[in-house]
Amino acid sequence: MAAQPQIATLDCDVLVVGGGNAGFSAATSAAQSGAGRVLLIDKCPEEWVGGNSYFTAGAFRTVHGGLEDVLPLVNNVKEELIDLDPYTSRDFLADLRRVTNGRFDPELGKVLVEESNDAVKWLAGIGVRLQLSFNRQAYKVDGRYKFWGGMCLKTEDGGRGLMIDHRRAAEKIGVKVLFSTAARTLKLDESTGAFKSLEAVGEEGKPIIINAKAVVLAAGGFEANPRMRSQYLGPGWDNAYVRGTPYNTGECLEMAIRDISAKQAGQWSGCHSVAWDANAPAHSGDREISNEFTKSGYPLGITINNQGDRFFDEGSDIRNYTYAKFGRAILNQPQGIAFQTWDSKGVAWLRDEEYRDEIVEKIHASSIEELARKCADSHGLENPRRFIETVEEYNQAVYQHRKENRGLKWDPAVKDKLSTQSSERSLKIPKSNWALAIDEGPFVAVKVGCGVTFTFGGLAIDPKTAGVVSLSGRSVPGVFCAGEMVGGLFYENYPGGSGLTSGAVFGRKAGIHAAAHANAKRTSVVGSRL
Ligand SMILES: Cc1cc2nc3c(=O)[nH]c(=O)nc-3n(C[C@H](O)[C@H](O)[C@H](O)COP(=O)(O)OP(=O)(O)OC[C@H]3O[C@@H](n4cnc5c(N)ncnc54)[C@H](O)[C@@H]3O)c2cc1C
Repeated sequence: MAAQPQIATLDCDVLVVGGGNAGFSAATSAAQSGAGRVLLIDKCPEEWVGGNSYFTAGAFRTVHGGLEDVLPLVNNVKEELIDLDPYTSRDFLADLRRVTNGRFDPELGKVLVEESNDAVKWLAGIGVRLQLSFNRQAYKVDGRYKFWGGMCLKTEDGGRGLMIDHRRAAEKIGVKVLFSTAARTLKLDESTGAFKSLEAVGEEGKPIIINAKAVVLAAGGFEANPRMRSQYLGPGWDNAYVRGTPYNTGECLEMAIRDISAKQAGQWSGCHSVAWDANAPAHSGDREISNEFTKSGYPLGITINNQGDRFFDEGSDIRNYTYAKFGRAILNQPQGIAFQTWDSKGVAWLRDEEYRDEIVEKIHASSIEELARKCADSHGLENPRRFIETVEEYNQAVYQHRKENRGLKWDPAVKDKLSTQSSERSLKIPKSNWALAIDEGPFVAVKVGCGVTFTFGGLAIDPKTAGVVSLSGRSVPGVFCAGEMVGGLFYENYPGGSGLTSGAVFGRKAGIHAAAHANAKRTSVVGSRL
C-alpha cells in the first residue's frame, strides 16, 4: 500500500491569511487585543514579503484637521512653508461618492472614512514611520508647498518602509509568520457553523492543517491571475501589466465563496489600473523599481493612442481622482498602448521618481514632426500624420481659450480651468484643466500600457466587525476579512490612497473582533471543563 503523505498540524488562536498591510494590521491588532497565539501565513516566499503593499508609495488617505493634526505624526518637516487644508469626513465621503458614481456601500464607506484618522494614528503608534508627501502630493508654488487632492501622508520609504515597520511591530508583539504556505480550504464546525480549521499547502507541496479559533482573510484580489481577469474584468485584461505581487491570484476569494458560502460584494468587473511603463515586465512588479513604473504625468501634457488620437480628458480632475481609471482607457486602445506627450514646459514639472532617465525610456525630439517619426519608427505609432494633426488641433484650441481668458493662471496644485474649450473652438475630447500648448521644444514622449493594481470585487463583510457575511445574510462565526478581499468600497474608480487606509481600518477591526471571538471560545472551553 502506498504511504499516505504526513499531514502536519498547527494550532493557534487567531490565524491570518496574507501578509500585506491588511494582514499585518490584523495580526498585530489581534495580538494587542490579547488573542494569545497569532499565526500569519503567506503563500509567497519570504523574499516576496509584503504583497501589493510592498509596491505602494505608502500613500494613506485620511481625514485630518490640517497641519496641526498631522505634524505630530510625521518625521520630515523642518522649516517648510506649507498650505494644507483640513480634510473632513464630509470631504472624504464626497470624494468616494463622486469617483464611484455613488455606488459604494454607504455603511462600509462611512466606517472607512470615520475611522481613517484613528487607524493612521494607530499605525504610527505601532511604529509605522509617517511623512508628509511633499514629492507626490504637493507642488511648490511661490515658495510654499501647496498640498492638493485630499491626501498628504505617506510612509517613510513607501511600501518598503511600511512593510519593514509592520514586520517589526508584529514580531515585537509575538506574531509568528510562515512563508511559502498557501491557504486552500476552509472548514467550519458542523455543529456550530463556526470556523474550525484551514488546510494549507506548505513548502514542497506538503499539506498542513491549521486549527484556530478565528481566521482573518487578507490574501488580496485576483489581479495577478490572467484567467480570472479576462473572466471577470473582460476580454483583453489578460494583457494588462501586473503592477505588484504575482501572488494575488484570487484563490482565497474562491475558497471563501466555495467553502463557507461567503456572499460576494462589489464590482467584480472593476479594478484599479493606471498608465504604466510599456517596457515594464508583464506578469509581476519589480521589487527594485516598484511603483516607479507608474507614469502619472499625464495632466501636464496630452496622451495619444497609436492611431494618433487623444482619447480621454487628461485634465478632468486632480490626478488622485483620475489616475486609477485611465489604465482601462489605455487598455481599450489599439494594441493597448499610448504615448504621453509633453513640451519643455510640461517636462519641467514631471516627477523624478517616475520620469528620470535611468528608469524610463524617453523619446526626445526637437519638433513634433520628429517626435511623431521616432514614435512611428520604433515604438508602434501607426499614424504619425494624425499624431501631428492632433497636437496642432490641441494647440489651436489652447491658444483660443487663452485669448478669451487672459486672467487665468497656470497652477498644477488646483483645477486651474486652463482648457481647450472656448466659444470659438472646442475639441471633441476636451482637456479641462492645465491645458498648456505643446509648442516649445524639446519635446518628449513616453510609451505607456495598462498596469492593473487590484480588483474591486470581493466578499461582503459586516462593517462593524469585518466579519464575513454568508449567503444567509449572517456573519460566519470566527471568519473575518480585510484589504483587497473586501468588496463594495470601490466602483470604476477610486480616491488615491484609500487602499492602504482600508487595509488598516478593516485589518485592525478584524484583528480586534477575531481576538474577541477567540477569547470567548477559550473562556467557554475552559468553562465547560470546570
Ligand atoms: C504599484 C502599486 C502602488 C500602490 N500604491 C498605493 C498607495 O500608495 N496607497 C494605497 O492606498 N494603495 C496603493 N496601492 C494599492 C494597495 O497596494 C492595496 O490596496 C493594498 O496594499 C492591499 O493590501 P492587502 O493587504 O489587502 O493585500 P496585499 O498587500 O497584496 O497582501 C496580500 C498577501 O496575500 C498573499 N496571498 C495570496 N494568496 C494567498 C493564499 N492562498 N494563501 C496565503 N497567502 C496568500 C499574497 O502573497 C500577499 O502577500 C498600490 C498598489 C500597487 C500594486
